[in-house]
Amino acid sequence: MKKFAVFGNPIAHSISPRLHNLAIAGLDLEAFYGRVLLEDEKNLKSKFLELNLSGANITVPFKEEAFKICDELETHASKIGSVNTIVKDSNKLIGYNTDAIGFLQAIDEFGKIKSALILGAGGTARAIAYALNTKNISTSIVNRSEKRRQNFLDYNFKTWNEFVPKGYDLVVNTTSAGLVKNEYPMPIELLEPTLKNSQYAFDAIYNKSTNFLNLAKNMNLQTKNGKDMLVWQAVFALDIFYGGVLNKDKIYTFMNKAVNLGA
Ligand code: NDP
Repeated sequence: MKKFAVFGNPIAHSISPRLHNLAIAGLDLEAFYGRVLLEDEKNLKSKFLELNLSGANITVPFKEEAFKICDELETHASKIGSVNTIVKDSNKLIGYNTDAIGFLQAIDEFGKIKSALILGAGGTARAIAYALNTKNISTSIVNRSEKRRQNFLDYNFKTWNEFVPKGYDLVVNTTSAGLVKNEYPMPIELLEPTLKNSQYAFDAIYNKSTNFLNLAKNMNLQTKNGKDMLVWQAVFALDIFYGGVLNKDKIYTFMNKAVNLGA
């Protein structure tokens, strides 16, 4: 029996065990997927080894630490600078990042995209900016503060004060604004003129229709929340745990069912 787990803090709310266990059962795999609350990032590697895991997913706030403890990194993870999936191969820990490919799969239903604006500059913004860059999409970032500018030297990074609104094919919210409070990710006087001339809006927040998405919908943009990104990053992770031999569409069907069980 293979053992997998998701590491994070907090972790009680994570739906990863539900997604993975339903797919594991549906595909007749002999495995169990649990959750681990980690207090100190320094214990990530020892806990992984102590639990004798074959693989793990890593969520907030340990993706950068996961990047540091891996013996080898696949290209996406090494370019993004964070790891959300670890696989044990012989005695080595191999790090992957499936957030970027999960995002690209999620926006696949949108039409041709040539330009994109990302709101926010955290870990999710880094994965999404990288994903868009692999598709040669011209990508700009706008953030409320200056502090993460150095992470986006290859992109057109602006703070709210510097930003001049214009239209983009795609506008993506990666801030956590709207997650708890009904706030916009950027002042409305900047957001409205941006959305007015844009076509598609995507919100990484997956469990609600945020003020950002509601505004975009009212302005006739095609919109999508982060649920499919969450499901697809998990689909790719499970497939990686098994060496890339599983049927991803089948995994998606089971995981999509699992995510909707909690809706
Ligand atoms: P980070 O903490 O790394 O980054 C958050 C970013 O949002 C920062 O740039 C921060 O600005 C900005 N921000 C935070 N609060 C506000 C606010 N009230 N107004 C404007 N900007 C704000 O978070 P992550 O990148 O890890 O996660 C961001 C979101 O993405 C979360 O809501 C998370 O749930 C979601 N997510 C979804 C996934 C999916 O699969 N669908 C996967 C991973 C995350 P500053 O730099 O100034 O602090």
